[in-house]
Amino acid sequence: MDVSTSNSIYFQQAADELDLSETMRSLLLTAKREVQVQLTAEMDSGALSTFIGYRVQHNDARGPLKGGLRYHPEVDLDEVRSLASLMTWKTAVVNIPYGGAKGGIALDPTTLSTRELERVTRSFVDTIHDLFGPDVDIPAPDMGTTAEVMAWIMNQYGKYHGFAPACVTGKPVEYHGIPGREEATGRGVGIVTLKLLSRIGRRIPDTTVAIQGFGNVGTHTAKFLHDAECKIIAISDAHGGYYRQEGIDVLDALRHARNHGGRLDGFTGGDHIDNQTLLSLDCDVLIPAALGGVLTVSNAESVRAPIIVEAANSPVSPEADILFAKKDITVLPDILVNAGGVTVSWFEWVQNRQHYQWGVNRVRQELDRTLGEAFEQVWQLSSSRKVSLRTAAYMLGVGRVAQAAVLGGIV
Ligand code: NAD
Repeated sequence: MDVSTSNSIYFQQAADELDLSETMRSLLLTAKREVQVQLTAEMDSGALSTFIGYRVQHNDARGPLKGGLRYHPEVDLDEVRSLASLMTWKTAVVNIPYGGAKGGIALDPTTLSTRELERVTRSFVDTIHDLFGPDVDIPAPDMGTTAEVMAWIMNQYGKYHGFAPACVTGKPVEYHGIPGREEATGRGVGIVTLKLLSRIGRRIPDTTVAIQGFGNVGTHTAKFLHDAECKIIAISDAHGGYYRQEGIDVLDALRHARNHGGRLDGFTGGDHIDNQTLLSLDCDVLIPAALGGVLTVSNAESVRAPIIVEAANSPVSPEADILFAKKDITVLPDILVNAGGVTVSWFEWVQNRQHYQWGVNRVRQELDRTLGEAFEQVWQLSSSRKVSLRTAAYMLGVGRVAQAAVLGGIV
C-alpha cells in the first residue's frame, strides 16, 4: 500500500472522530495549487535534456506552505500530491505556523554531474520563482536533494527577488543554514521515544531498542538514545544488521560506518543478523528508520516489541496497524515522530528573517520543547478520546487545519 492510500485512510478516521462535514473534508483534501513544469538544461556534453518538475501546494490555512523537494526517477504528481498533504498534517501536529507542500523533479541524481544538477535546479527556480518565497512556500531537502541544492535555490531566487535566505531551508550552515538541522529528525525521534517511555513508567536504562536503518535518521536516533542510556541491541542498513544483547557500542558503529562509506558491513561489535530478524527481535522498542512498508500483514505477527516508533515515513501498513492494535502494541506515528526536521527548518526560517544566528544549544532546546509539547497533546487526546496515538495525531493535525480554515473565513 502506498503513502497516498494510508494517508487517506488515516485522514478519514480522524475526520470521522472530529465529525467533519463532507464540505470540510473535500476542502481539506483538495490541493490549493498543483504545478507541473517542463525544464530544459544543458548537459556537460552540450546536449539539451528535458525534465518534468512538480510543486503541489496543498493547504496554507495555517501559514506559508512548507515541504521538501525530491529528486528521484519515480517522482510523479500523485506521489507529490500525497506527500504535500502529509506535510499539512505534520506541521499542524507540531503546531508550527506553516501549511504543507511538496515538490520534485523526475530524475536520478546519481546519473547527473554536480554542474548538471545545478543547471536543472536553477532552471526549476527560473520556472517557478513567482510561486514560492519566504511568505508563500518554502522548499527544503528531501530524498535526493542536499544542502548544496538548497544553496543554489537561494542564490537563483535572489537573482529575481533580492537577498531572501528564508525562501528555502536546509541550507549549508556556512550559507545561512542553522546548526542542528542535520541531526534534527533523529533527535526528534529520540525525544518522543523518551517521552513515551516516561509516560508508561519505564526505566530508561532497562530499555532495549532495535533500529532499522543507519542513515541520517537512524544514526542520530541511535546516538541520542545511546546518550540517554537506552540499550541499543540491534542496528542495520540495507545490507544487513548487527545484534548484541548487552548493547551495541553506538559510537564504535558510527566510526565504522564513517570509515566504510556509510555502511555497516564488517562491523565486529555484534552478531550479524538480517533485516527481517531485526524486526522480530525481543526488545522493548522497535524503530524502523529506513523505508516505508516494512511492517505489513506478512510479518506483523512476528513482531515482539511492545512499542514501535515510526521514524521512517509509513513503515507500518494500515492492515498491520490494525493487527498491532489488537495485540496491544503501541505505535507512535510518523507524522509526530519524524517532525523534528521540519521543526528545525522553521527555526532556520525564523533565524533568516531575524538576520540572526542561532546556536546549536538553542536549537536543541526549542526542538525538545516543541516536540515534547506535541507529544503531550497527542498523548492527552489519545487518552481522553480512547483512540490510538496515530488517530489522535491526525485528529490534532486535521482539526487545527480545519479550525484555521474556519477562523480565516475561508468557509
Ligand atoms: P538515508 O538515505 O540517510 O538512510 C536510509 C538508511 O536505510 C540507510 O542506512 C540504508 O542503508 C537503509 N536501508 C535502505 N534500504 C533498507 C532495507 N531494505 N532494509 C534496511 N535498511 C535499509 O535516509 P534518511 O534520511 O535516514 O531517511 C530514512 C527514512 O526517514 C525515510 O523513510 C525518510 O523518508 C524518512 N524521513 C527522513 C527525514 C530526514 O530529515 N532525513 C525526515 C522525515 C522522514
